[in-house]
Amino acid sequence: ALDLAGQQVTVAGLGVSGVPAARALAGLGAVVTVVNGSDGERERAQAAPLEELGITVRLGDGDTLPEGTDLVVTTPGWKPTSPLFQAAEAAGVPVWGDVELAWRLREPRAGKPAPPWLAVTGTNGKTTTVRMLAAILEAEGLRTAAVGNIGVPLVDVVLSDEPYDVLAVELSSYQLHWAPSVRAHSATVLNLAPDHLDWHGSMEAYAADKGRIYEGNTVACVYNVADKATEDLVREADVEEGCRAIGFTLGTPGPSQLGVVEGILVDRAFVENRHKQAQELAEVSDVTPAAPHNIANALAAAALARAFGVRPQSVRDGLRAFHPDAHRIERVADIAGVAYVDDSKATNTHATEASLAAYEHIVWIAGGLAKGATFDELVQKSAGRLRGAVLIGADRGLIREALARHAPDVPVVDLDRTDTGAMSEAVREAARLARPGDTVLLAPACASMDMYLNYNKRGEAFADAVRTLAAQEQ
Ligand code: ADP
Repeated sequence: ALDLAGQQVTVAGLGVSGVPAARALAGLGAVVTVVNGSDGERERAQAAPLEELGITVRLGDGDTLPEGTDLVVTTPGWKPTSPLFQAAEAAGVPVWGDVELAWRLREPRAGKPAPPWLAVTGTNGKTTTVRMLAAILEAEGLRTAAVGNIGVPLVDVVLSDEPYDVLAVELSSYQLHWAPSVRAHSATVLNLAPDHLDWHGSMEAYAADKGRIYEGNTVACVYNVADKATEDLVREADVEEGCRAIGFTLGTPGPSQLGVVEGILVDRAFVENRHKQAQELAEVSDVTPAAPHNIANALAAAALARAFGVRPQSVRDGLRAFHPDAHRIERVADIAGVAYVDDSKATNTHATEASLAAYEHIVWIAGGLAKGATFDELVQKSAGRLRGAVLIGADRGLIREALARHAPDVPVVDLDRTDTGAMSEAVREAARLARPGDTVLLAPACASMDMYLNYNKRGEAFADAVRTLAAQEQ
């Protein structure tokens, strides 16, 4: 096993992955220094309990490599081009992400081999798919957990004494960038669309980082038939002998694919009975919500579970037991015949396109941090569904300009606000634009951090504003 006792480890960043990594490293006897660029109240509150464990926390400088560092463990906040990593490279010091650290810390526990990973990445649908997968594995009676980027640090999971049979692992492109030795049992890239390009530098670099998830897979590389880029990544990956490429499609599946036939999710990849052409898994109506993008997620989860040997019956039972997380196409209320839907989690154009496609007439609330995205294609594809748009947040001008170019007839309210109170005004303006039968949809196509701590807070602000409106209407 990996021995870090006495090693000087620098952790880049606090937060949801830095804090658990620092704790775990200290617990393993490493001499830990956490560095963090910002030095605010939040950082100090996170630092205090670490310092009690004997960890050094250096706030206000995230660029300088502490003297004598043997290993850097980084969190997603640091771009690959950061001075800290340049210094590490110059000094010959390796850089691992928290996932790489977790992978290297895996070892047999309580007489059981370390549980294999079924891994999920993609621009959108990761969390949903990983939760579906965990539900399916549980329905099969396996001991499992949904872990990783979903908010459960892998470092904690691999060091825990829980006797897991298998893990359903969500991995972000950042985590994959810094996780060169991770080898999943089976994995999927659900879809690929531009996102986080400011971090990765280019679409090619982003795709390459996502593609790492297939490296060394042993049983199945699961790709999206409708998204050729994901299939290309499978072809380029260096996998173990005998590992199969398995596609999922919303249409009729070919051999080695899962798909949909007359409202039934079917599997033509893992058919146990030689005489059978396809194995029925579940009905479309077993998937909540049964929107096309979500059926795709269910098929991907089913493919990974089937690769692990799960029975068809458990796929159905697991999908029935699954319920989506908050702020993902969540219907908050109906007021005067208008539905108010919270998809605060739509933080990029690809997710927003999926949710705009789910409704007929939409008053769209959007805006926030664009992260380097452009909005022309999204607006072009969705213009016909827009009753109106209400824009908030720092980069709303980019959306306003795209609307002016491709949907000049759609009324736009530009709120010119980035304070947290803007959401109440946005909801009132949206209500004014909406007609009975319409949907007021918060699908920002942007990150939330210009206005809110995270997308949860943004979604809660929307729901609060809708409830206030409902109370006034009565
Ligand atoms: P992630 O973990 O990748 O961010 P989530 O499951 O949390 O994914 O969903 C994120 C957003 O993307 C939500 O707004 C959801 O409605 C949308 N979404 C989910 N699955 C897909 C998909 N397969 N394709 C496009 N958009 C999707």
